[in-house]
Amino acid sequence: MPEFKTEPLVVPSISGLLPEGERNRRVALTSFATSRERAKVPTREVVCYECGGRCEVPAAALSAACPRCHAHLNMADVELKPGLKRTTIRTLGDVTVPSDIVVSHLSIICRNLTVYGVATGSFQCSGKLKVRGTLNEDGKFGAATLHVKKGGHVTFAHIAEVGSAIINGLVEGNLSSPGEIEIRRNGELRGNCRCAKLTIDPGGSHTGQFTRYKDTY
Ligand SMILES: [Zn+2]
Repeated sequence: MPEFKTEPLVVPSISGLLPEGERNRRVALTSFATSRERAKVPTREVVCYECGGRCEVPAAALSAACPRCHAHLNMADVELKPGLKRTTIRTLGDVTVPSDIVVSHLSIICRNLTVYGVATGSFQCSGKLKVRGTLNEDGKFGAATLHVKKGGHVTFAHIAEVGSAIINGLVEGNLSSPGEIEIRRNGELRGNCRCAKLTIDPGGSHTGQFTRYKDTY
């Protein structure tokens, strides 16, 4: 049983009743919930986008503080709206660029990103990056998986680092992956490719050099 803590009771109002927030706080202080009961809240592991540290946060939270660097971590999903002013997006949630959006100077760090419109800038995704519209990288780029759908168009100004990639649209630029790069039936890669495994389906094409990942680039 937790130790019972007493606090001096200072009642600010004349009625003698504590304000609701303060009353709830005191009830929580003296409740008998064990740490095991509190741990039942579903959590998910996230990587802080400021310091790169891993931490557990409640799965349903919309924001959290990094226990390592104390950065405020936004966890909400973001959908870009027409006429947006803010082009720097940092979230542990997902970001969507809808089909009616054409935006440049973007700097996005997120989990999953889906591009239906036209997006230009820096993109760093800890999860899946799906492109059905157009994505132009002119800064930084990183994604656990890159999936360029049929009709999708991606250009890279620098060597793009991906965990793995499925290309069923057009990719112009150089790709590097410790995993597999798959060029599907409607896929075309114009650029050099360094990966552990490259597969090209009938109909797909690759123009450029292929280097095994273990080799130097
Ligand atoms: Zn941090």
